[in-house]
Amino acid sequence: MEQNFHQREHDKFVPMTSITSGGGVQVKADIYYYTDQMVNIGFVGHPEKGEWVLIDAGLPHAASEIKSVVVDRFGKGSKPAAILLTHAHFDHVGGLAALLEEWDVPIYAHSKELPYLRGEKSYPKPDTSVEGGLLAKMANLYPNEPIDLGNAVQALPENNQVPHLENWKWVHTPGHTPGHVSFYRENDRLLFSGDAFITVRQDSFYRVLMQTAEVNGPPRYYTTDWKAAFESVQKLAELNPEIVVPGHGVSMKGKKLKNGLDRLVEQFTDLAIPDYGKYVDKENNLYQ
Ligand SMILES: [Zn+2]
Ligand SMILES: [Zn+2]
Repeated sequence: MEQNFHQREHDKFVPMTSITSGGGVQVKADIYYYTDQMVNIGFVGHPEKGEWVLIDAGLPHAASEIKSVVVDRFGKGSKPAAILLTHAHFDHVGGLAALLEEWDVPIYAHSKELPYLRGEKSYPKPDTSVEGGLLAKMANLYPNEPIDLGNAVQALPENNQVPHLENWKWVHTPGHTPGHVSFYRENDRLLFSGDAFITVRQDSFYRVLMQTAEVNGPPRYYTTDWKAAFESVQKLAELNPEIVVPGHGVSMKGKKLKNGLDRLVEQFTDLAIPDYGKYVDKENNLYQ
């Protein structure tokens, strides 16, 4: 198994790369995402005009890859108007510290996520007992300590507007974490879902590697409130998104997305909630 992992400098093991890893996909003229090993990083804004923002910041050591995408797409010396965070898990904020050394830009997250970004609170330990195999077991190796961005990070405005992105709104989608948000653009129904739902099964090592595309619930080993997670998926399904860029997995659109989301809502207990695990209470479930 050893050869399937890649030892990072910070001496944690991180699952080695998926087949889309290290590549970027342009979803729309102003929407691009880059896959850093297993997590997606969003770039929103036209390459040739106006401001752009970054959505999430990948794994630790993602900063140099992010910067090279920026040079390719926006030109040398360009920097985002802001960095928006779906949530503060280490695989979404890893590159931040290094990016901030060069970029003096505001970072926004939901107010309920701020304690995890200001070094005040750690997430509950990932549930390595959860049904779902090897990746759940490996989650134990992931860093759990919060980062401390101090005042560089601030709360998203309460009116659901997204700083620097007109026509977008943020949607509170808790469950995976308390302050998880998704970002949504109404006019073309484009959604950055973060980890509220993803398009690959994070508990299947094979599927992570192959990026078999299917709509799935949030990554299991980190999700602590399954009732909220279900309500969040319902909320996003009601938006009827046309295109999604998830936190993990490939972008998906149209019928495939709609059918996948409908199925996830209808069968959330079976498809998303693990059969056992320390954050699961299936006997008394109120999910459906
Ligand atoms: Zn997460
Ligand atoms: Zn994630």
